[in-house]
Amino acid sequence: MSEHLPTSREDGDAMAPSELGALHARADEVGRAVEAELAAASPELGEIEAYRVGHRRLQEAGLLRLVVPASAGGEDVGELAPASTVSVRAMVTCRQALAYRHAMADLAFVEQGLGSFPIALGSTDAGLLERLAGVARGEEIPALALTETGAGSDLSGVATRAERDGDDFVLTGAKTYITNVGVADFYTVLARTSGEPGERDGLTMFFVEHRAEGLSTRGFEVMAPHPIGELFLDGVRVPAAHVLGEIGAGMDLALANLARFRITVAAAANGFARRALAESVAHLSRREQFGRPLSSFQGLRFDLAEMDTRLRAAELLTAEAAAAVDAGEDATAQVARAKLFSTENASWVCDRAVQHHGGAGVRVGSVVERLFRDTRALRIYEGTSEVQKLVLAKHVLKYTPAPDAGASA
Ligand SMILES: Cc1cc2nc3c(=O)[nH]c(=O)nc-3n(C[C@H](O)[C@H](O)[C@H](O)COP(=O)(O)OP(=O)(O)OC[C@H]3O[C@@H](n4cnc5c(N)ncnc54)[C@H](O)[C@@H]3O)c2cc1C
Repeated sequence: MSEHLPTSREDGDAMAPSELGALHARADEVGRAVEAELAAASPELGEIEAYRVGHRRLQEAGLLRLVVPASAGGEDVGELAPASTVSVRAMVTCRQALAYRHAMADLAFVEQGLGSFPIALGSTDAGLLERLAGVARGEEIPALALTETGAGSDLSGVATRAERDGDDFVLTGAKTYITNVGVADFYTVLARTSGEPGERDGLTMFFVEHRAEGLSTRGFEVMAPHPIGELFLDGVRVPAAHVLGEIGAGMDLALANLARFRITVAAAANGFARRALAESVAHLSRREQFGRPLSSFQGLRFDLAEMDTRLRAAELLTAEAAAAVDAGEDATAQVARAKLFSTENASWVCDRAVQHHGGAGVRVGSVVERLFRDTRALRIYEGTSEVQKLVLAKHVLKYTPAPDAGASA
């Protein structure tokens, strides 16, 4: 084989079974359509409308079925995952391809699963399972509501109350940083059924209708387009049938949901970073200064080599973690490692890409300027980089063999 031929695919699917290659192509097609439609849209188009473009294209292509278990109306992914759950490798493949094209395609894809998977994990109610099938068909949009002003990295701080009243629970409190405020049809909400803020126990998850009396929302802006805001619950009645999982086991349910989806954040980061690398290669090859293409300068060539190497490492860490989650292994450390490295790396890669573009890199509307902003929040949500380090450090301290044992292993 020629040494110039790649020995593996370089789009993040190196460790993937062949069906993931087909999935990558499907997601890429949707991503291209979203990117083209949004590029042609008016600059005045708001983020909610942009989100709806992404959502509609994903719905038309049937891609949203991948974030719902086959047993609840999602796509049958064969060997990749049993019918009762979703395949993380499938979602990782899609997110990497979608993020490469446009953040709105990626976001609309993952939120459909992140906000609804607690139903699959915690309910057998026929009505709720039908709603989940509606999510798979793209007819309903969910949102996940965990965070509060006093509960971010430490969810035991949740103070929203859920008081039992006959056959109902009555929810009172406020959530913040809730993605899909403004578009969601329902929320999966973490609230306190007993105990006090600061206690891990006593939390329960609920399915809450957007149209419920006493529910209101207020959107706010973050640095990259993203439907997000606050959710206010003022005496919202929720039937007991809409409790998700066991009463008092809400923290475990919320963490189980994140355990399935967190690794896909790494995939989105890798998609953004791979696009940034492609933009750098194109620009440095095209642009001439000092009578030569920028790509001929060794300093910039070294940059490309480092971007490529780090990105490949991030993709392989992500593939390893996704495979471990799909295999049902305890993949906590692999996921933390991949999320930490991929998201931090994506910010670094996108920053280099902005630098390579010179002034054009900071012009509002340029692809690398957009990528630079799109990547930033990934280091914060679904467990900050610091939280991933805490998780990893615990693992390293527990499982690293003593030097003499390591030497003889
Ligand atoms: C764009 C975006 C979308 C989001 N979408 C959702 C959503 O849909 N649903 C939802 O429920 N939430 C959502 N969130 C909230 C997100 O999960 C939280 O922002 C995140 O968990 C961090 O919580 P915090 O913002 O309160 O920061 P804090 O927890 O206050 O942390 C502040 C800083 O302190 C660091 N820190 C905290 N504890 C430690 C420690 N023990 N050791 C070292 N450092 C520490 C953190 O790493 C961080 O750097 C979203 C956030 C963003 C930015």
